[in-house]
Amino acid sequence: MLQTVTSWGRTITADSFVHRINWRTQPIIFEAGRSYLPVGALRSYGDCCLNDKSAVFDLAGLNRFISFNRETGELECEAGISLRKISDIIVPQGWFLPVTPGTQWVTLGGAIANDVHGKNHHKEGSFGCAVLELELLRSNGEKLRCSRSQNNGLFRATIGGLGLTGIILSAKIKLKKISSAGITAQNIPFSGLDEYLELSARVSPQYEYTVAWLDCANLGAKFGRGILMCGSHDDSGCKPRSSRRFSVPEKMPSWLLNNFLIGRFNEVYHFVKSRSGGRTTSIPYEPFFYPLDALHNWNALYGKQGFFQLQFVVPQHDNGKALKEILEEVRRSGTPSYLAVLKDLGPLASPGILSFPREGHTLCLDFANRGRPTAQLLSRLNKMAIERGGAIYPAKDATMLPAEFAASYPTLEEFIRYRDPKFSSSFWRRVTSA
Ligand SMILES: Cc1cc2nc3c(=O)[nH]c(=O)nc-3n(C[C@H](O)[C@H](O)[C@H](O)COP(=O)(O)OP(=O)(O)OC[C@H]3O[C@@H](n4cnc5c(N)ncnc54)[C@H](O)[C@@H]3O)c2cc1C
Repeated sequence: MLQTVTSWGRTITADSFVHRINWRTQPIIFEAGRSYLPVGALRSYGDCCLNDKSAVFDLAGLNRFISFNRETGELECEAGISLRKISDIIVPQGWFLPVTPGTQWVTLGGAIANDVHGKNHHKEGSFGCAVLELELLRSNGEKLRCSRSQNNGLFRATIGGLGLTGIILSAKIKLKKISSAGITAQNIPFSGLDEYLELSARVSPQYEYTVAWLDCANLGAKFGRGILMCGSHDDSGCKPRSSRRFSVPEKMPSWLLNNFLIGRFNEVYHFVKSRSGGRTTSIPYEPFFYPLDALHNWNALYGKQGFFQLQFVVPQHDNGKALKEILEEVRRSGTPSYLAVLKDLGPLASPGILSFPREGHTLCLDFANRGRPTAQLLSRLNKMAIERGGAIYPAKDATMLPAEFAASYPTLEEFIRYRDPKFSSSFWRRVTSA
């Protein structure tokens, strides 16, 4: 039976046949004339986790630990396990995820297939850099162990491979040693992009993690000011502590989230975060890495029209010129971005053939879906990022054109050699016109 599947941005839905997979040993049938896509927690914003009019494998039930070496930090799990479940086990034992995105409600398989990056890309690279081995099921029934020394081509294609090379059944990753669950954190306010660039170049090398929040909701003089948030693991003896979780009702009217309200929210947020005057404090890791996880279903705040998140990376060598031009286009359009996050990606290359993370500045911008004007703005911003030598992130994307995808991923032809012919997605058909 067809079911409606929705991704995180709630702007795109798909009608799909959903097959739930609970055991790695469960026989999986691939019918003729149908395409398939494995999915995790559907935390991608656009359509890379959707397969309209076709089938998806829901792997959330494939969530068991397989092995954990407490001496070396090598952990093997089934691919549907959440990063949250992994952290719950490893943090009290003095280990941490090598790389983590801004939510822990993603699956191991989803983290590999989008080759996610965290606030430590300048030190550790992307998630794929820490994958030692994975087990891949192809549609011809073959189960392959893939690593740097075995089936290396498929290993590299599957990291950042958007679920198109087969089903990742399990993976082994190398964890990072920590002394406690505490993070020594520092918040440093800046008035605009020039100050950010100077600050980030000076301060980021001293910290394991850095990320900047930008105020792109106030379109006046305060546009582009922000807070650089830095942190490193410490030995404060801090115990893991979950943030309190609040839920957003499923049916929120979209007018509740408006420019006035977010403008005021940003005033308060900026004030509170600046108040520490640059002093360092020790805090538990969860509020540092996952502030949005405290608000369950926060994507429902945008109402039934949903929202878009654009994320691109542009090269760093132009002293922030590309970033400034793109931000200026946002301001000129009169469209506030309710959440804007800026990170620096470092030079450590991912093994993934189609991986998004590469050296440069990466900017995420959320826009409420207001129909045609939003679509037109996104199309201008995509174009600007590509013309400036940048790339667009499939995990967030709902609007990029085939030519923009090809420009973002010059290694596309090499990737296509490894794609499983029975695997496809709404995203893949859109960006390759297949
Ligand atoms: C609040 C929030 C913050 C975020 N912050 C970041 C961030 O800081 N950095 C970042 O990089 N991303 C970030 N993301 C994006 C998110 O990390 C990625 O979209 C991630 O891939 C989602 O994982 P998932 O388990 O939900 O996978 P899904 O969204 O369900 O699927 C994502 C892709 O993985 C494939 N896939 C899933 N499971 C498998 C499997 N077992 N085998 C093969 N392919 C599979 C799917 O086909 C699809 O192409 C954020 C998302 C949210 C909602």
